[in-house]
Amino acid sequence: MEIRSIRGMNDILPEESIKWKRIRHVMERVFESYGFREILIPVVEETCLFQRGIGETTDIVEKEMYTFEDKSGQSLTLRPEATASIVRAYVQHHLYASGKIEKFYFWGPMFRYERPQKGRYRQFYQIDVEAFGSDDPSLDAEIIASLYDFLTRLQVPGVAIELNSLGCPNCRPGYQKVLKEYFSDKQAALCPDCRSRLVRNPLRILDCKVETCHELAMKAPNIQEFLCETCKTHFEAVQGYLTELKIPTRLNPMMVRGLDYYVQTTFEAVSENLGAQNAVAGGGRYDGLVKQLGGPDIPGIGYAMGMERLVMILKEMEKESPPWPCDLFIATLGGRARRFGITLAAKIRKIGKVCEFSYEPKSLKAQMKLANRLNAKFTAIIGEEELRREEIILRNMRTKEQVTLPANETLADKIIAVMEPRETR
Ligand code: ATP
Ligand code: MG
Repeated sequence: MEIRSIRGMNDILPEESIKWKRIRHVMERVFESYGFREILIPVVEETCLFQRGIGETTDIVEKEMYTFEDKSGQSLTLRPEATASIVRAYVQHHLYASGKIEKFYFWGPMFRYERPQKGRYRQFYQIDVEAFGSDDPSLDAEIIASLYDFLTRLQVPGVAIELNSLGCPNCRPGYQKVLKEYFSDKQAALCPDCRSRLVRNPLRILDCKVETCHELAMKAPNIQEFLCETCKTHFEAVQGYLTELKIPTRLNPMMVRGLDYYVQTTFEAVSENLGAQNAVAGGGRYDGLVKQLGGPDIPGIGYAMGMERLVMILKEMEKESPPWPCDLFIATLGGRARRFGITLAAKIRKIGKVCEFSYEPKSLKAQMKLANRLNAKFTAIIGEEELRREEIILRNMRTKEQVTLPANETLADKIIAVMEPRETR
């Protein structure tokens, strides 16, 4: 019987992975220009890391985690996000001892047991950025700027940054109380999830995607009016820097984000190519999280971005992916020619060119057909006859011009010289 992949977990085939590669290339360029360095973290962690780090009343911890026991009976979880793990690594390796602001980027798969649909999967990939060591609003602005830079560099259309401040442990409880009062007499109209959120975490109702809840939330008291002086000043400074940087933002007092650890600045990146309820990236400040996970009281800020949603946006733009490059195809006829050809391929690759070898000894006609299918720019034809004369033929697949080259020690260099004439090099 045919075995298929798990529901909500996708194969990314080469046709599509070429887009992923471009995204990763831009990711490295942009993020390294901000001084972020790559960090890699395990796929599996102790379950309690996410329970403590993400929060017991979040959708992720309440219903979306892939949790299982290993052979020793320890409870493990496939990571549903990266922040908690990166904070754990930061604390575990005492990275705070460096005395500087530590800035990381990361990309890799995440796992959430959600209902699979367009743009929502059970294994999906995130790009993640985190910075530790300062609560200065200029860091918030730079983190948001890096996200905006990245998306515009990829030419994502109509990017906008939605901004909010969620206050701090001083002012948020006051807002939560007012919010609870507002929703209390509207309970009947709330979805079952929101009815329990009302008791445990009323802020989360603002984030609910159920239409009736959303409508009520639109008319709820505005968090901006409940911020304390510190939070207000901080938020104004962040907005000031972003104006200075000419980053288009809009205030969205409804945006609370799905995680418990956020304080003050929160943000999402949206694109006109995604549905209104789907953000391509989201993040915020989490000043208490390092301490909560056993480290010193060090502030942090970061965001996560979904690769699949990015690819979806980009797919709308560029329907055709460019063909995979192939500089040289090596066609051979006969046993000696094959041995000669395979070593020639090795030499060409060492020079840094993409070289394909004809693995199956077929007719020359069939091999030329294959060269075309591979989009080869040139083909080296190595025949028994020619080799006897110590020669090979190099064919330009576009112009159909052919040259004969000596099959000696300098052959690889000669091929490169024909492929890249001096004036264009
Ligand atoms: P949403 O509100 O869409 O459920 P979220 O608030 O759960 O998103 P985060 O946990 O902040 O999202 O993750 C950041 C980004 O990761 C999202 O903006 C999205 O691009 C991507 N993402 C989240 N969950 C999924 C999923 N199940 N499948 C694909 N991408 C996802
Ligand atoms: Mg979610």
